[in-house]
Amino acid sequence: MIRPGKMLRQVLKSIFKKPATTKYPFVKATMPDRFRGKLKFYPERCIGCKMCMRDCPAGAIEIVKVGDKAFECYIDLGKCIYCAQCVDSCMKKALESTKEFELAALDREKLKIKYDAKPGEVPKE
Ligand code: SF4
Ligand code: SF4
Repeated sequence: MIRPGKMLRQVLKSIFKKPATTKYPFVKATMPDRFRGKLKFYPERCIGCKMCMRDCPAGAIEIVKVGDKAFECYIDLGKCIYCAQCVDSCMKKALESTKEFELAALDREKLKIKYDAKPGEVPKE
C-alpha cells in the first residue's frame, strides 16, 4: 500500500504538471500527415477497374458505372476500418485518405456516403 506522505507528494506533483491529455473537442485536434481518415474519391481518375472493391477487407466500398467512363463511388463508413488498402490498390489515385475523423452519427444510414461521378477538383501530384 502506498504511504499517505508519498501519495500527497504525487498529488501535489500532478497538480503542477502539464496535462498529458488535450482539450479536445474544445481545441481542434491536428492529425499527422499520414493519418487515415475519411476517404475522398476523385471520379475523373477512376477507370472502374474495381481493384478497390476486390481488396477491401470490410466490403465497405462499391464502384458503379453510371455512364461512359463515369463511375460513382459508395462507401459505408460504418463498415470501413480505415485501413487505406483501397487507396494503395488504386493505380489511378482516385482514392485518398483525408485527415477527417469526426464521423460519429446516431443513424447508420448517414454513414453511407455517395460520391457522384461529377468532375471535382483534382489535386496536384
Ligand atoms: S477507385 Fe481506383 S481502384 Fe477503384 S475502380 Fe476506380 S480506378 Fe479502380
Ligand atoms: S479504407 Fe479499408 S475498409 Fe475502408 S473502404 Fe478502403 S479498403 Fe475498405
